[in-house]
Amino acid sequence: MIPEMPVDMDLIKGFLAPDEAAALYEQALQACAHGPVLEIGSYCGKSTICLGLACQRAGSTLFALDHHRGSEEHQKGEMFHDADLYDPREAVMDSFGEFRRNIRAAGLEDVVVPIVAGSAVAARHWNTPLGMVFIDGGHSLEAALTDYRCWAVHVVRGGVLAIHDLFADAHLGGQAPYAVYRMALASGLFESLGQVNSLGLLRRL
Ligand code: MG
Repeated sequence: MIPEMPVDMDLIKGFLAPDEAAALYEQALQACAHGPVLEIGSYCGKSTICLGLACQRAGSTLFALDHHRGSEEHQKGEMFHDADLYDPREAVMDSFGEFRRNIRAAGLEDVVVPIVAGSAVAARHWNTPLGMVFIDGGHSLEAALTDYRCWAVHVVRGGVLAIHDLFADAHLGGQAPYAVYRMALASGLFESLGQVNSLGLLRRL
């Protein structure tokens, strides 16, 4: 349970189950002791609000990274396309306006630092140790691997790496996040903190 939720989460577009939302909040609240939090794949801000509320309570900061052009599955003609988030003048997806509205409604403008860029370019000069990284960006193997390689290295000892959309059964969902999760475990750098629904949680050793 997230105390004093300032917005109705059911009205915010996104793909995050209530038990996953609560787990993100709780993990971030602990992880803030080790450093700020960074998420990859903010979309309309649903997970951003959960992590942001924890950072607000802990007096920390959330970096919210997303190019806001949508992942593969959000593009026109694809399964998760949302016409409300399509800019017909520019002929591109644009979730940034919706994201900003939701962050403002949640009272988190002083906590959340949006980074509107691709993962690799944002990471190029990154030098801030992080208490928690939440990977929920593109679900192609290339995108998921890029997110892992660019950001897992910045999680400090005792910090948390969270990965969304883990499906051991390929019939239930794409396998890229799960591949990255197994890679993190196999690296010997992380230990499992278990899984909440499709959210995998790891602690940096
Ligand atoms: Mg996801």
